[in-house]
Amino acid sequence: MVSSEYERRIAARFATFDQDGNGYIDREDFSGAAKALLAEFGTTPRSDKGQALYGGAEAFWQGMAGIADRDGDQRITREEFVNGAVKRLRDNPDRFAEIARPFLHAAFAVAAPDGEAAVEDLARVLRALGVPEDVARAAAASLDGDGDGKVSEAEIIPAFARYFTVPQ
Ligand code: CA
Ligand code: CA
Ligand code: CA
Repeated sequence: MVSSEYERRIAARFATFDQDGNGYIDREDFSGAAKALLAEFGTTPRSDKGQALYGGAEAFWQGMAGIADRDGDQRITREEFVNGAVKRLRDNPDRFAEIARPFLHAAFAVAAPDGEAAVEDLARVLRALGVPEDVARAAAASLDGDGDGKVSEAEIIPAFARYFTVPQ
């Protein structure tokens, strides 16, 4: 049995990946996320950081497709997401951190050139990815455990993996 709360959370995670909202997750959603992030921070796609972010987005897509695209049509449907990605990643959060890491590392370099991200800049990242304003602010603030207004990269990857892999 699945609860409606569980289904709501899965739907929210699917929507986060389906950046263009066309009903399935594909490569364009990942490259679109990279493009939106670079635009938000005024970083050119052809810069080293821009290239790293696009490379990370492609690796993230390949990793997700490897886990969830069971029919190999280069699209992850909601059904494939729920039955493939969610279950397998919940059982193996480290795997998710691994496939997301190059993208998150590159995104962190864009948003936090000094090696620590301001909470406000993390909220900008989430907003650029389509997360609603209030959710983005709360999520960014929640990562700052000691309340000094900054978050390290080491804190972000596990938090990101938890968000996507533990639907509680
Ligand atoms: Ca899409
Ligand atoms: Ca598919
Ligand atoms: Ca902190």
